[in-house]
Amino acid sequence: MATTAAERKLFVGGEWIETGDWVEVRSPYSGDSVGRVAKAGAEETRRAVDAAHRAMQERLPAHKRAEILVRVAGALGRRHEEVARLISDEAGKPLKAARVEAARAMSTYTFAAVEARKLAGDMVPMDAAQAGEGKLAFTLRRPIGVVGAISPFNFPLNLVAHKIAPALAAGCAVVLKPASQTPMCALLLAELEEEAGLPPGWLNVVVGPASEIGDVLVDDERVKLITFTGSSEIGWNLKERAAKKRVNLELGNATPLIVAADADLETAAAKVSQNAFAFAGQSCISVQRVYVERRAYDEFVDRLIPLVEALKVGDPADEDTDVGPVIDEDARVRILDWIKATSGDLLTGGELEGELIRPTVIANPGRDDDVSCQEVFGPVCTVTAVGSLDEAIELANGTRYGLQAGIFTTSLDSALRAAQGLEFGGITVNEAPTFRSDQMPYGGVKDSGNTREGPHYAVREMTEERLVVVELP
Ligand code: NAP
Repeated sequence: MATTAAERKLFVGGEWIETGDWVEVRSPYSGDSVGRVAKAGAEETRRAVDAAHRAMQERLPAHKRAEILVRVAGALGRRHEEVARLISDEAGKPLKAARVEAARAMSTYTFAAVEARKLAGDMVPMDAAQAGEGKLAFTLRRPIGVVGAISPFNFPLNLVAHKIAPALAAGCAVVLKPASQTPMCALLLAELEEEAGLPPGWLNVVVGPASEIGDVLVDDERVKLITFTGSSEIGWNLKERAAKKRVNLELGNATPLIVAADADLETAAAKVSQNAFAFAGQSCISVQRVYVERRAYDEFVDRLIPLVEALKVGDPADEDTDVGPVIDEDARVRILDWIKATSGDLLTGGELEGELIRPTVIANPGRDDDVSCQEVFGPVCTVTAVGSLDEAIELANGTRYGLQAGIFTTSLDSALRAAQGLEFGGITVNEAPTFRSDQMPYGGVKDSGNTREGPHYAVREMTEERLVVVELP
């Protein structure tokens, strides 16, 4: 048993274990305790790798892996409201956004189950070369081995699902380290997988000091792949240190959106107000930098500001709250400092409502201001007037990030020019670049990462091709 919702043990080798030490989980809104989790260190992480490695010595056939994934999806559906409240409590995510995340995790498991059932290699057309005549060849897709997974605080359920569900589909056992601020959802998923019939060792969850756990995952040769979602600095550092492993990185962004003069400005303004401030801007694809063609700039801003000012800031547990707290005091201080330091004009926000940062819009900031070139990860967006689409594309490309970007335009020509010119992993047209559906190939270029998630793509990353050549009689 995983104990009560408020007190959770670690999940290692199919057992729920205590260590004598605890990690306190507190609400980012009230500071009240949400629960506590047994704290792991290097020793528990090594035990977890042992268990995962042992588990993979036994075959778990694809149909059984798929059935477990389907059962977890079903349990997430049945326990939807409880799961959404747990996300909201530990991450401070407004309940309506937490419900969307809970539903998306169900969809992630469902897509992973499909991938488990269709995992197959390719036939190689051997007689296409003279040397291959008289031979039959095909590839098998083999699980890469034990996966070390590290996840961030901002989607504590669905970003964990995006690692552990495809890993099971691929036939890989996992050692998961969730964010220390939001470990409860990950342990709930472990409970659901156990109830769904997961044999011991296939999923292990350790919560504790990041560098200590990270070092074991980097150093242990049995861990063949590290899948990391989080900040760029930590991600690229892990990759540098784990030279012989596959290290898949899903990192930050300073998400740009272009609004062309011919765009439907009402829709564009509504999408920005919904997607720059939801979960207080703490999504890696939260709209951050909006570049508006000069002819449309005044009208766009006039439409945007009242919508932003109408957003309800407050307790994430309230049904009608749009914008809650940022994750902690350090984040709050940093964001307020960046707002204060910008050379742009403050159009709205920039101050606190109670302890919470009001949704903030800054006009025409300097190109080198932090709000223009770093990832804010807070309820802040900038609007900048530009002379042309080319200038907008150049500014949008002007950071070290490249995860997703978007354009609003009614011109097919402009949309296709943006799709070709924007150096990002994904481009949205007439939709906010915050859009993600869980089967999409999702991931970045430049400092934003080196891989694609979405069960189909993650399973491909978590498997290796093995070639079999047969001499025909
Ligand atoms: P973070 O500080 O980088 O933490 C992410 C995870 O890494 C946490 O589990 C953290 O553990 C762990 N970690 C920290 N130091 C480590 C180390 N030395 N070795 C191994 N693991 C270590 O990021 P965050 O603040 O949780 O999340 C926000 C960031 O994630 C943003 O940059 C956002 O853009 C990015 N993100 C990207 C995507 C995407 O799909 N591209 C999605 C969501 C978020 P502790 O919690 O214990 O410190």
